[in-house]
Amino acid sequence: MIALVRREFHLFQAAGRDFLYLVPSAAVFALDPATAAALKIVSDGPVAADAVVQGLADRFDAETVRAAITELLDVRAIGYEQQPDDAPLRMLPMMPFPLTTMVMNVTNQCNLACTYCYEYGEDKIVDTENGQQSKFMAESTALQSVEFLLKESGRVAHLTFFGGETLLNFPVLKSTIAYARARAAELGKEIDFSLTTNATLLKPEIIEFLAENRVGVTISIDGPRDMQDKFRVFHNGAGSYDVVAPKIKELLRRHRTRPIGARVTLTSDTLDITKIYRHLTEELGFWEVGFAPVTTSPNLHYAIGESGFDKMLGQFRALAAEFLDHVAVNRHHGFSNVKDTLEEIHKGVSKAYPCGAGLGLLGVSTDGDVALCHRFAGSDAHKFGTVRDGIDREAQAAFLQQHHIADKTDCSKCWARPLCSGGCYHEAHVRYGTTVKPNLHYCEWIRGWTDTCLQIYGELSERNPEFLARFDREEAKAEAVL
Ligand code: SF4
Ligand code: SF4
Repeated sequence: MIALVRREFHLFQAAGRDFLYLVPSAAVFALDPATAAALKIVSDGPVAADAVVQGLADRFDAETVRAAITELLDVRAIGYEQQPDDAPLRMLPMMPFPLTTMVMNVTNQCNLACTYCYEYGEDKIVDTENGQQSKFMAESTALQSVEFLLKESGRVAHLTFFGGETLLNFPVLKSTIAYARARAAELGKEIDFSLTTNATLLKPEIIEFLAENRVGVTISIDGPRDMQDKFRVFHNGAGSYDVVAPKIKELLRRHRTRPIGARVTLTSDTLDITKIYRHLTEELGFWEVGFAPVTTSPNLHYAIGESGFDKMLGQFRALAAEFLDHVAVNRHHGFSNVKDTLEEIHKGVSKAYPCGAGLGLLGVSTDGDVALCHRFAGSDAHKFGTVRDGIDREAQAAFLQQHHIADKTDCSKCWARPLCSGGCYHEAHVRYGTTVKPNLHYCEWIRGWTDTCLQIYGELSERNPEFLARFDREEAKAEAVL
């Protein structure tokens, strides 16, 4: 008889029971006691089915154990020795596929000089200060970009404005939105708008415009005054907290048509996540807060080292536990990192590529060059065409060929790959000088965080499944528009 062997899964406990995260299918599977016991025996080494039945004879009858084995074989948690493993398939997306999100860098200039900024720091890819690139996007380029997006998109398009400081080019942003709305209506398409800003230039007429036009807003902010002023400073070194705090409060008071989120860059010097979260939600009033570790070379003093990642994980876990306590009883909690990951788990997301960059998402530089994403906008080495000439499909196909998860040797054996898939290309470029390499410096953190989110998912599947069902409804709503 051919022996049974374990396949790829990650075992975790939640709500007092065992769960499996099945890696090839990215599905979550709750185990009953007999299935958990059978899996344990198979996991300990190759074993015949009869031996599993015998080994569990004092606890479960043979029929129950055989049914458990069949179920584990069906979901591919176990398999037969000598049968090949489910290694990631090297399936490239069918091309051409629609563009869903275009991130438009309306300027590469900024009125702040944040120490860690990838646009201005030592790690920059494009020299926007001394290079040839336009500092502000011209209106004609912006309108061409809109035509490009509407031509390349399906029924729904997302237009995101980015910078530099986006609001330094508010006039172009304003005319672009009016133009895009009119053109989308003519073409029978849906378009929505969002932007990221440092909040320093918000004023009543801008806030009014954003609210009226239902523009989604993400504010880059690092927390209370002491944390914000450590890195988010003006060119003269002055902190920006006192400038942005009242403007943000006004934005949150007036702009009620879309939820407003904060995006925090974490550094080794500003790692108090709970304190930051409390300040941003309770004192400033943000609905959601998302955190991302700073992208930088490891030798810079604010880079997050190994012990920093451990600390960060501990704090993420504490805030995630608070999230669970809230949503289990249908109370809102704004820790968006956990919500976003729960959504991906629920939808069974299994990524061949870490993010939408180069797939459904592209960046556009101030000159109208199309790039992998906004962080590469203006980089010739990561150029995928122009808004005038369209997407360079050859460059795009070559990129997708080169970056598939199946070719990332370490990742192709990692249980967290369905959600991580090697991590951000920009981070890899800064760290290793190439987008091809996976971000192996933060694997422990990624796996630790994914495990936490799986546990929360398991808990919620028992304590408030309705919360998870909302993701299905939102997806159905989005599909209805497509
Ligand atoms: S980068 Fe690390 S955590 Fe992410 S998929 Fe690859 S091996 Fe796994
Ligand atoms: S490459 Fe990095 S910065 Fe660019 S879209 Fe992907 S995750 Fe974001």
